[in-house]
Amino acid sequence: MKTSTRRPALVIAGERIRAGQSRELELPFGESYLGTPQSIPVYVIAARKSGPRVFITSTIHGDELNGLGIVRALLYEKPPKLVKGTLIFIPVVNIHGLERHTRYMPDRRDLNRCFPGSATGSQTRRLAHAIYTEIIRQCDYGIDFHSAAVRRTNYPNVRANTRDSGTRMLAKVFGGELIVNSNGPDGSLRRTAVDAGVPTIILEAGEVWKIEPSVVEVGVRGCQNVLRALGMLEGRPQPPSFQIIADKTVWVRSDQGGILGFHVRPGQLVRQGEGLATVYSIFGQEQTSLICPVDGMVLGMTTMPAVSPGGPVCNIAVIPPKNYDRIVMKMAKRSEDNLYSRAQEDLSTSIAVQDINGGSNS
Ligand SMILES: [Zn+2]
Repeated sequence: MKTSTRRPALVIAGERIRAGQSRELELPFGESYLGTPQSIPVYVIAARKSGPRVFITSTIHGDELNGLGIVRALLYEKPPKLVKGTLIFIPVVNIHGLERHTRYMPDRRDLNRCFPGSATGSQTRRLAHAIYTEIIRQCDYGIDFHSAAVRRTNYPNVRANTRDSGTRMLAKVFGGELIVNSNGPDGSLRRTAVDAGVPTIILEAGEVWKIEPSVVEVGVRGCQNVLRALGMLEGRPQPPSFQIIADKTVWVRSDQGGILGFHVRPGQLVRQGEGLATVYSIFGQEQTSLICPVDGMVLGMTTMPAVSPGGPVCNIAVIPPKNYDRIVMKMAKRSEDNLYSRAQEDLSTSIAVQDINGGSNS
């Protein structure tokens, strides 16, 4: 860890953060058409004792609100009593997207493809630059919250560049069942942060426009696990029943248009050759079955019951066959009140899951 008592003081938006302070700040990044200054709300908690600096960000895509719910729960329901170090929260990075009901910025750019940004670039690059220079570069670790794209849901999964040792540690101690090893897209916050030597992970969980209770619980527990592992909070991290690191994911697509009947739910383990969904005609006649091409876990799926040729239906995290049976056994031993069992149940409540003979599977 690169923390040191001689490191420069934490200064955000020109304000020096002193030991023992908890405070709200406004990070300026632009102006409106009317010339009004624009800024992002930031909340900082600094322990009396120095230690790691961790940022927690959400809603970099303006329609992804689960992370906002996680930050709110962390701050107002279970406020962290830090033993050491500093926590920086940005519950809504893309304030424009949230206000305008869109993933994107007003200049139609994706903020999560514009890091590290530029002080003299487009509106979006200027916002990325403010976050990068004032927050990311001053931190030691980061957690960024996301949800699935519109009309899809994701089983809670951590995405991390597991070849970077600090990022791998962070991903593992967060304590999710599923970690997907990937660098992240060019220009994304997490890839840029890791390249700058700041280990950063994302949680991908749930749907857009929702704050889902079990996703919030997964996020809160994950953040607390990370802070405990870093010695910033008292207590021991809560490990999951099992943990998979998947190096590969595959989308299963339909070749025909029609109405979907799903046979799996988010987070379910599936064998190669097992039916994932059946495509029916609009009059209910069976057209085709979508078969799982690998052994894996359902990482994400469409929530849209109608599909056209090429439409993505299920995203599968590939599990090496040698690990599959062990994971099946561990999953079977999970209790009903296990957090991930509940998340699996919650995320499939609005999806009609039928068994292969047409009966209800829920
Ligand atoms: Zn996102």
